[in-house]
Amino acid sequence: MTVEKCLICGSDAPLCFRKKVLFQYDVRYFRCSACGFLFTEKPNWLAEAYQEDIKGIRDIGMVQRNIQVAELTVRLIMRHLDPRKKFIDFGAGTGLFVRLMRDRGFDYYYDDPFARNIFARCFEARKPVAGHQDYELLTAFEVFEHSPDPVGDVGRMLAYADSILFSTELQPEDANVLEDWFYLLPDAGQHVAFHTRKSLHNLAKQFDLNMFSDGRSLHFFSKRSVKLQAKDLDIWYRDPVTKVLRWMIRKILAFKGATPPTASLISSDVKYVNQLLRDRD
Ligand SMILES: [Zn+2]
Repeated sequence: MTVEKCLICGSDAPLCFRKKVLFQYDVRYFRCSACGFLFTEKPNWLAEAYQEDIKGIRDIGMVQRNIQVAELTVRLIMRHLDPRKKFIDFGAGTGLFVRLMRDRGFDYYYDDPFARNIFARCFEARKPVAGHQDYELLTAFEVFEHSPDPVGDVGRMLAYADSILFSTELQPEDANVLEDWFYLLPDAGQHVAFHTRKSLHNLAKQFDLNMFSDGRSLHFFSKRSVKLQAKDLDIWYRDPVTKVLRWMIRKILAFKGATPPTASLISSDVKYVNQLLRDRD
């Protein structure tokens, strides 16, 4: 088959290219001619892809990323939502994000039927009760690109909360470079759904949600009329006072000789681990 129906809008999605997934499966990728959504053929390899989670080994930046996203989520909740309510992390993985948010005083809960909860045990969310959304906000980081059923999954998320903060990398503007786009990650076999701004808009419309996006990787859906600003989805944003205070603290620590002499080892560790894995293969 060379044309599928788009999983988001139902339009024709012709075959775009093929990739070797998990080093062995010849997989077709289809792209919607209307909304640009790119998706793999039905992923029968997912059980295998999650069995030996090589990403867990390669993912050196996981902790730092979770800390940054936790800071952003705190800011967004404090500016636009009710911090005294309950919150839920969907596809919560190890539970690190839930733990970080609970450490910061937010009543956060874990949901992930496919992963091992390590950091947030005893804080699993209860199954949703029909017509009763218990949570103020649902977060879903690095979930959408894993979903073979994007419409069904958003429906499942909305059973918990009427606002969703999520991450997924949007496709590059130039469709000609799609075939070599880093985000496809065919070796790992876990990414099967790739959005455009238009496909997210379409998804939001189907559920009558307002949408905000940073145009790259962070997005917000809500049934409420929450008006986000660009800074709400910018992990690097700091208000001017915090900026000055942090700068002063750094200067004082440096003066006292109390700062580490070298920069973070994240990027050199990524290179080191990738080299080890290449040698092993
Ligand atoms: Zn479409």
